[in-house]
Amino acid sequence: MPDKKTASYVQSICMGEIEEEIIVPFPEMAEGEKETLGQVLASVRQLLGGREKEFREWDTKAEMPGAFIEELRQFGLFGLVIPEAHGGIGFGSTAYSRVLQEIAKFDGSVALTVGAHSSIGMRGLLLFGTDAQKARWMPKLTTGELIAAFCLTEPGAGSDAAAVRTTARRDGNDWILNGEKIWITNGGMADFFTVFAKTPDVQTGGKAALTAFVVTRDMPGVSTGPHEDKMGIRASSTTTVRMDEVRVPGDHVLGGVGQGFKAAMKILNSGRTGLGGGAVGGMKRLISLSAKQAVERQQFGRPISEFGMIKEKVGVMVVDAYASESVVSMVAGLIDQGYEDYAVEAAISKVFATEALWRTSDEALQIAGGNGYMREFPYEKAMRDSRINRIFEGTNEILRLFIALSAMNDVGQQLKELASVVKSGVADPIKGFGVLSGYARKRASLATGLVGERRSFTLLVPEVKKAATVVEEGTRDVALAADRILRKHGGKVVGKQFATHRLADILIDLFVLSTVLSRVNSAVENKGAEGAAQELAILEIFAGRARRRMRSNLNRIDDNDDELVKLVADHAFEKEGYSWDTI
Ligand SMILES: Cc1cc2nc3c(=O)[nH]c(=O)nc-3n(C[C@H](O)[C@H](O)[C@H](O)COP(=O)(O)OP(=O)(O)OC[C@H]3O[C@@H](n4cnc5c(N)ncnc54)[C@H](O)[C@@H]3O)c2cc1C
Repeated sequence: MPDKKTASYVQSICMGEIEEEIIVPFPEMAEGEKETLGQVLASVRQLLGGREKEFREWDTKAEMPGAFIEELRQFGLFGLVIPEAHGGIGFGSTAYSRVLQEIAKFDGSVALTVGAHSSIGMRGLLLFGTDAQKARWMPKLTTGELIAAFCLTEPGAGSDAAAVRTTARRDGNDWILNGEKIWITNGGMADFFTVFAKTPDVQTGGKAALTAFVVTRDMPGVSTGPHEDKMGIRASSTTTVRMDEVRVPGDHVLGGVGQGFKAAMKILNSGRTGLGGGAVGGMKRLISLSAKQAVERQQFGRPISEFGMIKEKVGVMVVDAYASESVVSMVAGLIDQGYEDYAVEAAISKVFATEALWRTSDEALQIAGGNGYMREFPYEKAMRDSRINRIFEGTNEILRLFIALSAMNDVGQQLKELASVVKSGVADPIKGFGVLSGYARKRASLATGLVGERRSFTLLVPEVKKAATVVEEGTRDVALAADRILRKHGGKVVGKQFATHRLADILIDLFVLSTVLSRVNSAVENKGAEGAAQELAILEIFAGRARRRMRSNLNRIDDNDDELVKLVADHAFEKEGYSWDTI
């Protein structure tokens, strides 16, 4: 069995191996938790159902009334992931993600308000808090007496989180914080802020390290700015958070002085299934709206649902939603089973689900035609609300870099070991020869496509064989591609974003397909091939499309127009615009 501390399905794929035990069977929620989840979902429907008009009004006014926040508190929606010992529901990632899915079916701003609290605002306390810290704040975070916010971004530190300029200087046992955070979700209503600041007296690589602090609104010197006027999720609170000479006691440090960067990344990784769940909820709602619209709207004497181009849109929406739900649920399941190395898988789920939601919102609006463009219909708001997901909690560009570079890091490690072994081989020829031949054998087996150990699935039903072959071939190809990219660019690979983008997209397709494969495999086992006929069709569609995308990305590793595209972009940068006209 895989070691849950270190095993990662995607990293094994990059080495050309399929660790199927990690993803097969498709994870299932514990029965006990299912029951509580059912009750929470019912109360979410009770709270949010039939309030479409209010959500639209709050969107227009860009505000969420205090009375509604109070209702969220009453319904226990701030205690979803807080352990029962501190009064919360104690949901794992799967149940939590499913609740956010349900909320997002009704309104994006509400999902974000609840999600920012649990996914990131108080997650540092959940992950790194001491018993004393938890006992002190968790009961109030559960009831929503304290609402939480996550404060990392600054004007000069967006994607480059390490560029934070907020400082924390020591003063006896206390810290004095100074700086300003921007675009903080829940900023206007939060009382509990997880703030990341530079602590100059702890250095990493010659630079001041980051530390995470709990800052509360009642501390003198804390202030928040006005509600930002946004494109979407307009009713959710987004503000600046300022700290002027804020005295923070030493026991407010979360996870150790100097550990802030790692903590921030861990929080974001751990919370991703919340955002993914929200994206799935958004898609399910849009599919319902589009299907109804397509059946009811008549043109040319027929419902538009009879036209092939409309069928194609709705069919693809369903495949996208099923794939997103599979990958988000798989990641949540891995976390709940105790896997610790899931950062790459979580990043893939975020990129895939948020882009699938964006495609879905665009096509849903298109199916609605002119109505889709009118504010009285829900489509334009859904589209505005969904756009942010590709930007926050790590932009999809940064996450693609992370996905590809983590994968290559592993291959690189092996190449590095190989290089050092070759060097040290003179001193220890026998050891050197052993590793070298092991790696050479592996490369040869990859290159020749020999089916060997862990090159193929053994736990799947025959009905999913065709899709399984796509994963098996893709795994061999991606391992060779990672090796080739690394050999071509060496240490400079970090700056080779056209190449890393392709590798990331291949890995996204491979992992998402693997999760769909595992889910459909379980569906066939549970319901038989006939009962799972629709799901088998979804698998075949996704596998075929993923295979074609992967092939195209692989071909373009060596045969591409990257240099020409860079040339054209650099010209636009130099001229600060477009240089041509036809007159
Ligand atoms: C509504 C909203 C709510 C938010 N909530 C929070 C919150 O609660 N807490 C919080 O801390 N932050 C929050 N943020 C901030 C959000 O996380 C950042 O906007 C995000 O991390 C991107 O940073 P940036 O906007 O500065 O973009 P930039 O980092 O300036 O990026 C601009 C563009 O360049 C790309 N880019 C940057 N670096 C690279 C690179 N190395 N390679 C390739 N492309 C690159 C990006 O992908 C992006 O497309 C929120 C933002 C918004 C809009």
